[in-house]
Amino acid sequence: MPVTSPDIRVHDAHLRNLRHVSVDMPHGKLVAVTGVSGSGKSSLAFGTIHGEAQRRYLESVAPFARRLIAGAVDPRVGRIDGLPPTVALEQSRGGGGARSTVGTFSTVSNSVRLLFSRAGTYPEELRGRVGRLDSDHFSPNTAAGMCPTCQGTGTVHAPTEESMVPDPSLSIDEGAVAAWPGAWLGKNFHDILVTLGYRTDVPWSTLPREERDWILFTTDRPVVTVHPVRGAEQIQRTYEGTWRSVSTYLRETLASTSSESTRRRVLSFMEESVCPSCAGRRLTPDALSVTWRGMSIDELNGRPLAEVAELMGVAGGTAEAAEPSETSEAERLLLEQVVPTVKAAVELGVGHLSLDRPASTLSAGELQRLRLASQLHSGLFGVVYVLDEPSAGLHPSERVAVRDLMDRFLAAGNSVVLVEHDMSLVAGADWVVDVGPGAGENGGEILWSGPVDGLSGQDTPTGRALAAPPPVLKGGAVAVRPAASSLPVRTTERTLDVDTHLGLGQFTAVTGVSGSGKSTLVSTALPEILAEEGVRTVRITQQPIGRTTRSCLATYTGLFDAVRKLFAGTPEARRRGWSVSRFSYNVAAGRCPTCNGEGAIEVELVFLPGSYTTCPDCHGARYNDETLEVTWHGLTVAGVLDLTVTDALEVFAGEPSVLAALQALDAVGLSYLRLGQGAPELSGGEAQRIKLATELQRSRRARRGSRRGAETVYLLDEPTTGLHPSDVGLLVTELNRLVDAGDAVVVVEHDVRVVAQADRVIDLGPGAGADGGRVIADGTPAAVAESGTATGTALVTAVARGRESTETTT
Ligand code: ADP
Ligand code: ADP
Ligand code: ZN
Ligand code: ZN
Repeated sequence: MPVTSPDIRVHDAHLRNLRHVSVDMPHGKLVAVTGVSGSGKSSLAFGTIHGEAQRRYLESVAPFARRLIAGAVDPRVGRIDGLPPTVALEQSRGGGGARSTVGTFSTVSNSVRLLFSRAGTYPEELRGRVGRLDSDHFSPNTAAGMCPTCQGTGTVHAPTEESMVPDPSLSIDEGAVAAWPGAWLGKNFHDILVTLGYRTDVPWSTLPREERDWILFTTDRPVVTVHPVRGAEQIQRTYEGTWRSVSTYLRETLASTSSESTRRRVLSFMEESVCPSCAGRRLTPDALSVTWRGMSIDELNGRPLAEVAELMGVAGGTAEAAEPSETSEAERLLLEQVVPTVKAAVELGVGHLSLDRPASTLSAGELQRLRLASQLHSGLFGVVYVLDEPSAGLHPSERVAVRDLMDRFLAAGNSVVLVEHDMSLVAGADWVVDVGPGAGENGGEILWSGPVDGLSGQDTPTGRALAAPPPVLKGGAVAVRPAASSLPVRTTERTLDVDTHLGLGQFTAVTGVSGSGKSTLVSTALPEILAEEGVRTVRITQQPIGRTTRSCLATYTGLFDAVRKLFAGTPEARRRGWSVSRFSYNVAAGRCPTCNGEGAIEVELVFLPGSYTTCPDCHGARYNDETLEVTWHGLTVAGVLDLTVTDALEVFAGEPSVLAALQALDAVGLSYLRLGQGAPELSGGEAQRIKLATELQRSRRARRGSRRGAETVYLLDEPTTGLHPSDVGLLVTELNRLVDAGDAVVVVEHDVRVVAQADRVIDLGPGAGADGGRVIADGTPAAVAESGTATGTALVTAVARGRESTETTT
């Protein structure tokens, strides 16, 4: 009998919906955690396992803060044996601050700056003057590196006559100088001009050139005794006023203001242009004169990662490589560090991104894959990586790379716990923990923990999905819906070169490898084209529906307005004279003053920013006690927020104003969510389905109003992210209902089962970036399967693999 267990043993996990479950997982293996959305996968993998590891870590670094930590991080688990430290990579948007880029986010930029600093080729003159530059000098975000003219932004703002006086046909009295501030200061400038004898009652354009220039651009600051021009009834007292030209006023305000709105207002009266000193390159001339392998750092940062990988892969500069020097040794060490990350990034399908691409423009999947790639940098071993659907956003042909990367983590002596919906990845896992069977209160049980073979074919959502029959390709035995009418789609947006059309009354899937241009087509080009054609368009993105706990499911869908009306209408509320606003947790009168209606308060843990703990006064209810004295059908307003959609369907069965929104949420598989669930607690996939539910409801209302010509085009970017195959089924049914009613649905999609049932597939490619952007196959799924493109191959493989697995199980 082994003395120590090689497993991670979780005893009595009861976080959120987990029902006091115990489960073992092997060390050093790939463990997939499966189950429908809301079943408790994340609660187990992230909340319990990573949560407990984090709690232990925090207690070890700050034992004095034990109580605070226990309040903020409570994994609600009896005990976990055999738990190594964990590294969690969750799906989330927005990497870092406004200036965060692919390079800073993946940590590749640090190495690239060091490469330029230590191994760059310096001009003789610079070498003689300063020696080598520090790596700081190669960042536009540091004082040493930024171009002094534009502060490292690459653009400058300069006031011009056109930008300050947009309408020269107006007189100064009529407001020709739009850039002047309102209130007293603007009046002061006007009155000084009158005092100095300028004509303010003739069109601006008729003033002599030198007068206009003086008003706008002079650096003189004459002090003038002003006789204010005011309404007759006001006291006219003279004062000493100082003149500043309009451009001086704008520049000085820009330099001194700390208000974002003032800043924006001032900038709107200036013309933006490329910085004349650095030509938009953001760095000092010194930094820009240094090259590495023939490129300046800004050039390198602008190249796709795939090219950077190639450049880094080739042997060093000829002369330097010949005899080992300090430089070549530094270069070798730096490359050793950074090349694995860059290569992994390329393999994970983000080779089309450049280092200077703002992180804010990346999808959740791209961000996560960058984060994964940068883990190779850390060289950790003996840890548990907890990952959230790393396959999201990847074409089936690219998913092999995810598996390879995880194998590298395993080979280095780590364990991987993977929350995953892609059945091809699940089928390849060493161990599966299936959570369910349903969502929320209907889930939270461990249905299976063991090798995947034992789960396939069992009567659970995952068991059924693993043994599902192959998808049927539409356009073969099953006919597609014909287009009722079609809209031309021509675009050269970014990397696209597309000339096609879109069918109303059809379900269109846009496919292609990462970077081929799918999002550009569906999220950028189509909305513009459709707007020009005057077609009603609904875009449903995975952007979170709000970042603060102020927004919740009930407020976002609008159903809370109707709920508050019900409460305000109760006899008790009327007696107290309370209106609907009393029942809003965003209004002072009704909410809990301790947490200002958030239900939670931020805990100041220096080493763990953004930690919240339940409000000690209202215990998460968000309201003050008085407000909770009013009930509707026995429920307080906080009680309503605590209902799940399923419960609420019963409670509000007789209230059509509330019911419609609830039914829409139920139809897209979100019945397990609580009405008061805060926006930050919702996953990207959930947010997307909430938006869809809200839009469905709106469309139904719109359609009731007008009979024809109200067709809508729905644009969705990877709606199946975060969805179990059984939830995908629900979503697709709902989308097809729209199409059957005459609308059009366009989805960016990788799930072959969704692609297979579309009426039409537009396949972009063949590669990423400049190598993509063209339509390489276009037609029914059955036709595209014959095309030989990567998507065609994926469709063929899915059909074949499905057939194999059903043959072996039957
Ligand atoms: P899955 O990962 O399987 O989609 P989760 O573990 O995220 O499921 O959710 C399990 C249950 O816990 C669901 O009912 C969900 O609505 C709820 N839940 C998820 N996150 C939170 C949270 N931060 N606070 C409260 N409830 C949550
Ligand atoms: P896909 O959705 O197929 O992964 P994208 O449409 O996101 O592809 O990208 C197509 C090309 O356009 C890529 O080269 C990508 O780097 C570039 N691109 C996409 N979005 C932006 C953006 N916001 N800024 C700059 N380049 C972008
Ligand atoms: Zn500049
Ligand atoms: Zn409170």
